[in-house]
Amino acid sequence: MRRVAIIGGGFAGLAAGVELAARGYRVTVLEARARLGGRAYSFRDDASGEIVDNGQHALMGCYRHTLAFLDRIGAAHKLARQPNLYVPMIDVHRGAGAIACAPLPSPLHLLSGVLRYALLTRTEQIRALLAGMRIMTMRRRHDSRLGQCTVTELLAVLGQSANARRVFWDPVTVATLNESPDRAAAGPFAEVLARAFFRSREDSQFLLPTVGLSDLYTDDARQYLARHGGAVMLRSQVVTLSLREGMVTAVRLRDGSEIETDACICAVPPPALATLLPDAVRKAAALRAIDTFDSCPIVSAHLWFDRPILSSAFLGLLGTTTQWAFNRNQLVGAINDEQQGISAVISAGRDVVEWPAAQIVNTVVADLRTLLPAARTANVVQSVVVKEKRATVSVTPAAERLRPPSTTSVTNLFLAGDWINTGLPPTIESAVCSGQRAAALVVRNLQVPRSAAA
Ligand SMILES: Cc1cc2nc3c(=O)[nH]c(=O)nc-3n(C[C@H](O)[C@H](O)[C@H](O)COP(=O)(O)OP(=O)(O)OC[C@H]3O[C@@H](n4cnc5c(N)ncnc54)[C@H](O)[C@@H]3O)c2cc1C
Repeated sequence: MRRVAIIGGGFAGLAAGVELAARGYRVTVLEARARLGGRAYSFRDDASGEIVDNGQHALMGCYRHTLAFLDRIGAAHKLARQPNLYVPMIDVHRGAGAIACAPLPSPLHLLSGVLRYALLTRTEQIRALLAGMRIMTMRRRHDSRLGQCTVTELLAVLGQSANARRVFWDPVTVATLNESPDRAAAGPFAEVLARAFFRSREDSQFLLPTVGLSDLYTDDARQYLARHGGAVMLRSQVVTLSLREGMVTAVRLRDGSEIETDACICAVPPPALATLLPDAVRKAAALRAIDTFDSCPIVSAHLWFDRPILSSAFLGLLGTTTQWAFNRNQLVGAINDEQQGISAVISAGRDVVEWPAAQIVNTVVADLRTLLPAARTANVVQSVVVKEKRATVSVTPAAERLRPPSTTSVTNLFLAGDWINTGLPPTIESAVCSGQRAAALVVRNLQVPRSAAA
């Protein structure tokens, strides 16, 4: 049985491992930390006893790679799928509105959703739909502007008003790319629009975990690997790769031990990869810029109120520091039903990430009280702030051109991770897609006799 070492136990590494284990390879997933899950995990908050995610994660129907992975490990039922795309929003200046798509076939569902979105004027609604269609045409024609522009520059070319950007395009950009529209690359933005909104009605639906993030996939993936002859090794930081005759033959762990392998997948973020790779591999053109990737933070404030303040599953906030509020009672349940758990999200939170936790909590509470009358009389009984300083790589047009492919100059060494060039923004779907792609490359590599592959 051919052996494959996979470095990194996040979505990318686990997806690669599951794919290879299913095809009969002997997989070992090596994870530096004491837990699986990488940047998508949950933990038990000691004070409240509640399970808290490092940050609320939302998936969409267009996450086809991810849904196939979850299905394979028997975890797809842990997601709740919206019947139709429904995104309630509330704005400091204009009040409430919702992108509420009717149960119509695509693209009529999208048409109905935008034409009913009350925070846009009728003219803005029509211009937004036309802009979406123009972006699809640009994508089909490989228009070079998608590779060069930021989202803001693209929207200016497409004649979008300041209000349309503020209440419609910017929240979509920040939520899906974790970057401000002034910096975010237009290419992955167009890809998100194409996959999420211009394919089927089901592709547009949100899917939200009904359990803590770690419970969504880590144990099931681990058990799947075990059932298929694979293994997960925690607290196993790989410090270097051993190469012989231009091939990876083993990975060396921090404790000095070596694990021999026939192929290797590195499924770690850029800073970790930079320390792992032998110099000769790093010097190849595709990886020379690995040190230049910047990252963008996401800040989450988990608050428990002494009474309900939010009736929907989630709400988008406009004109405030807080961007989204998720109703944890409705999504995952609560130990104490009288309280309401709210997970507030601030993506692309460069300024906020340096604030003290108390200032973040006070700001989120003030935002909620400004927009939700029920919050004005409610008290916060408990709070937890999670700052993910390196939540995702920053997807600027310059960084987008530097994202490396899955292959390397070493024929049996492959890369995975949300930041690999998948065409998608750095999301769960990009991570899983890259993992499955790396697995397919391993299969092809190991099918070639060694003498021919060398
Ligand atoms: C707060 C927050 C909210 C987010 N929200 C969303 C969302 O709503 N929707 C969405 O799609 N995406 C979201 N994302 C992005 C998503 O979490 C990531 O894209 C995804 O988890 C990345 O997975 P990965 O496997 O590529 O990398 P990681 O999860 O970073 O996994 C890499 C793993 O490698 C391990 N490792 C590193 N170096 C070594 C080494 N030398 N040896 C062994 N192991 C090593 C690390 O410990 C880690 O476990 C969010 C991210 C954050 C932080």
